[in-house]
Amino acid sequence: MTSYADFYRQSIDQPDAFWADQAGLIEWHKPFDRVCNYDNPPFVNWYEGGQTNLCHNAVDRHLLDRAGQPALIAVSSETGTEKIYTFADLHGEVQRMAASLKALGVEKGDRVLIYMPMIAEAAFAMLACARIGAVHCVVFGGFASGSLASRIEDAAPKVIVSSDGGSRGGKALPYKPLLDEAIRLSSHKPGAVLLADRGLTPMDLVAGRDHLWSELRTTHVDAQVPCEWLDSTAISYTIYTSGTTGKPKGVQRDTAGYAVALAASMKHIFDGRAGETFFSTSDIGWVVGHSYIVYGPLIAGMATIMYEGLPTQGMDKKPNGGIWWELVEKYKVTVMFSAPTAVRVLKKQDPALLTKYDLSSLRALFLAGEPLDEPTARWISEGLRVPIIDNYWQTESGWPILTIANGVEPKPSKFGSPGIPMYGYNVKLLHEATGEELTAPGEKGVVVIEGPTPPGFMQTIWQDDARFVNTYWKSIPGKLVYSTFDWGIRDADGYFFILGRTDDVINVAGHRLGTREIEESISGHGQVAEVAVVGVADGLKGQVAMAFVVLKDSSVMGDSAACGKLEAEIMKRVDGDLGAVARPARVRFVTALPKTRSGKLLRRVIQAVCEGRDAGDLTSMDDPGALQQIRDRMETV
Ligand code: AMP
Repeated sequence: MTSYADFYRQSIDQPDAFWADQAGLIEWHKPFDRVCNYDNPPFVNWYEGGQTNLCHNAVDRHLLDRAGQPALIAVSSETGTEKIYTFADLHGEVQRMAASLKALGVEKGDRVLIYMPMIAEAAFAMLACARIGAVHCVVFGGFASGSLASRIEDAAPKVIVSSDGGSRGGKALPYKPLLDEAIRLSSHKPGAVLLADRGLTPMDLVAGRDHLWSELRTTHVDAQVPCEWLDSTAISYTIYTSGTTGKPKGVQRDTAGYAVALAASMKHIFDGRAGETFFSTSDIGWVVGHSYIVYGPLIAGMATIMYEGLPTQGMDKKPNGGIWWELVEKYKVTVMFSAPTAVRVLKKQDPALLTKYDLSSLRALFLAGEPLDEPTARWISEGLRVPIIDNYWQTESGWPILTIANGVEPKPSKFGSPGIPMYGYNVKLLHEATGEELTAPGEKGVVVIEGPTPPGFMQTIWQDDARFVNTYWKSIPGKLVYSTFDWGIRDADGYFFILGRTDDVINVAGHRLGTREIEESISGHGQVAEVAVVGVADGLKGQVAMAFVVLKDSSVMGDSAACGKLEAEIMKRVDGDLGAVARPARVRFVTALPKTRSGKLLRRVIQAVCEGRDAGDLTSMDDPGALQQIRDRMETV
């Protein structure tokens, strides 16, 4: 067996040879003539001259050997339905969807926005876009009209694929009215909307614009739509993520680099093998869903479980904290991927549920998206008795940056550490102010990646190269390096520990949110003069958002009923603009916010006070009374 150290070294010292080897894991229509073009840093082109297709590699390629094997297992504990699509079935559905999109005018390079719950049609739509060379842009179904509108505006989709609604905890959640409102708010209007009607909530169709998938599917039931061979660097998709400004960033990814990166990670990191079942509990609205619900497992020839529902509700809609383990047993899942928050939810269930099912097929559970705390890791590790592997990455990277490459060398994990740098990632720790490299164990610095970034990493920000360079590559003085905006340290064995964000991004139950987006929504309330939103540590969700609001008329503060009403109104506003995921846990009213003398909001100081920590050096603070108010308000939380 190759040692991981050698494997990693080759990837950094001889990237061309390393990634040319990995390219053999996918099928090409035309071979590439250059592995890595890094002539114009920080932009990198992988596999120039080559042509391939993501959908071909995820679906068509497997028809020869495993047409009759399960590919997509769509399970919903919300509707109590379960359906298995073989690779042959999936091939048929994807072609029907591709033909429908084409009939609605979608051509190569056009954008298709997908706003859908976790249903099979969402995967069909993604794969259909990849098949015909359209750029898909999946927006998380939990986002509301405001967030959706800004994404429609930016992506300018020709067609939007959506559905009547989703469901959570047995309660139907209408999507269509939110979509209609978002289209109304956006200055860009899609030419057509394609809707999967699940019969969950009634919906009004806009004549001439809205079409039903059930009807188009019938029209195109026998459609044969060949894969469009795409240049390696052709854009496969964009996915929006939060940053420090209110405007979300469209993370843009290529075709061939992404396909190779996923194929390689399925082999070297997840050790998932063709014919087995992979189960990621994420959502297609997040990058994990793109990479490890849809493309990754399918490229590897694995069946993938797409699960709609809570981790605590059974197929009969009754409470069942063992539903995931039931699925592991039933489908003989070998590799599972989830998030620490989900495990913390399960931790509150009967521990006997972990021994009730036959979980002998499971080889490892990977967890990502937020810090994995030691008690949670120990609890699940003792319960499942398989390796629990933390992995650290970002929407931008598309696949893990730090973890354990289980398929190369199953090195031991260390509690509290997501692991060591993955092949292709030249990860360093730099001093935030001087840019000096920190090499001594235990030194805290900003986690950065030196270019060229590996295949699968973001190409740029959709239609904004300048923002890509300025945001990610220019934050460390004097160095052109990619900043993850996370603090980290490394121990003597090379294991990294992530200590939180350097910017104003917070992480609620694994969902990344920009505090600025939430502040912008709250500021829109007629009675709000000023607002500060910070992330505060929470035992279940990792972090929750707390909002501190200065009212235009501070006399209201004496009236607790009026304050309660305002708090509810503000929360409702955030729900409507951004979605319930972004709703602050509490809104507290103050007469002033802690700021520097130059007027900059001291979010980190507010956060420290909220968490009962030392607020550090306060010499630059303008008004100490403002901080005292935050302290007082927290005591009443
Ligand atoms: P997202 O782009 O939504 O995946 O969020 C990425 C951010 O989540 C990272 O920059 C980290 O702050 C955090 N994150 C993701 N995975 C981990 C992990 N395993 N440990 C600690 N933080 C993590």
